[in-house]
Amino acid sequence: MRIVVATGNKDKLREFKEILKDLGSEIISSGELGIKLVAEENGDTFEENAYIKARECFDKLEDKKNTVVVADDSGLCVDYLDGKPGIMSARYMGYDTSYTIKNQSIIDALKDAKADERGAGFVCSICAILENGEAIYTKGVMRGEIAREISGANGFGYDPILYLPEYGKTSATISDEEKNKISHRGQALRALEKILKENL
Ligand code: IMP
Repeated sequence: MRIVVATGNKDKLREFKEILKDLGSEIISSGELGIKLVAEENGDTFEENAYIKARECFDKLEDKKNTVVVADDSGLCVDYLDGKPGIMSARYMGYDTSYTIKNQSIIDALKDAKADERGAGFVCSICAILENGEAIYTKGVMRGEIAREISGANGFGYDPILYLPEYGKTSATISDEEKNKISHRGQALRALEKILKENL
């Protein structure tokens, strides 16, 4: 079985490859197959946006034989900000704004938050489209708190501000291996792996 990941995000692709390596499948991105994903992510939920990406990739894929197309839509949901940036995480403050600026702005937005109001989590919805066109969904959530300062250089995006109390450090300070074991994407992809193993 071949897995085509509908993404242009190389950080996500690296995590997909590592987390799904036990499946023994070829894992290749839409970009590597020359597929350009241009559809607007105009859904209201992570699930809807994951479906939009997976469906566009599936429709543009010439050879669908023995192939599962997988897309994730993910983001950071901050309790104090009523779940924002949420599905807007990549677009928050503009796609081209650096994560140093995005991350600092979230820390600043929580300057009046009490200690017990700093809860936040990464959410990941996966949509997989099977060879016959059927869509299946899985989801994962990694909860933590918004850190008081940016810390760590591993991972990507908002990892430097999601503080994980059980580790005493941010998601950008734990190793890639540790992150994949507990992360939203790890949970969602392992759930998908189980479904694929049982059904295919
Ligand atoms: P998407 O590519 O539209 O799903 O946007 C996901 C965005 O959410 C990324 O660009 C990051 O800003 C954020 N995000 C998702 N997963 C993670 C993660 O594991 N670490 C840090 N940021 C993440």
